[in-house]
Amino acid sequence: MEFPLACSSNSISGFGSQRREGSKVGRALVIFSGGQDSTTCLYWALRTFGDGNVFACTFDYGQRHRIEIEAARKIARSANVPLTLLPIDTFRHLQQNALTGTGAFDDSINPESHLPKTFVPGRNIIFLTLAAAFAYDHQIANLVTGVAQTDYSGYPDCRQETIQSLQQTLHLAMESRFEIHTPLMNLSKAETVMLAQKLGAMEALAWSHTCYQGLRPPCGQCSACRLRAKGFEEAGIPEPLCRIGDMH
Ligand code: ZN
Repeated sequence: MEFPLACSSNSISGFGSQRREGSKVGRALVIFSGGQDSTTCLYWALRTFGDGNVFACTFDYGQRHRIEIEAARKIARSANVPLTLLPIDTFRHLQQNALTGTGAFDDSINPESHLPKTFVPGRNIIFLTLAAAFAYDHQIANLVTGVAQTDYSGYPDCRQETIQSLQQTLHLAMESRFEIHTPLMNLSKAETVMLAQKLGAMEALAWSHTCYQGLRPPCGQCSACRLRAKGFEEAGIPEPLCRIGDMH
């Protein structure tokens, strides 16, 4: 399996550098949740754009588990990547969903939409749009997101078509040629684990957070835990999270 690894010899540094539009070199902003996929993307970005060229943003959108934000801070710090926390206190006022609601956690399928109740409508396109606004002001042309259309929950905003369409919209709306990178788009969860190992991200994955229940060690029962476990099992790679235990 060929993974989408690319090494950059570019060494632009500092926010004052010239943007290199539409290029794979330059600086990149990773949309970083502190989870398995975005941690892998962070290391992919470091490999692709080089140390000093990678930045991360984490959205505080009222997710029920603050452990996600703690994980993001810890991993970004250990990878020496500047992290910006951006608050969005909106999703929880728009609708009920499993990730921002206050009731008992429920990741079953919504009978009307046929999507998991963990689907937060508009989340990824809003994250990417706000990330682009941040990137615009900081001369960053590359956005990196861990969305994938394989082996996942069928979220419509994780599809290639959605990302391509949004990239074009951002280009038109800001007159700036952002490139949205989706290194995991066509990888299975097992392939994502293998990519993380190849990138040297396994130590960081020990601190990443996946469990929808917000538990650490993970509950092992929710859909996110099951998908993560399946990926490591199929990849034949030990799960680092279980080995290290509690993050504090
Ligand atoms: Zn879980």
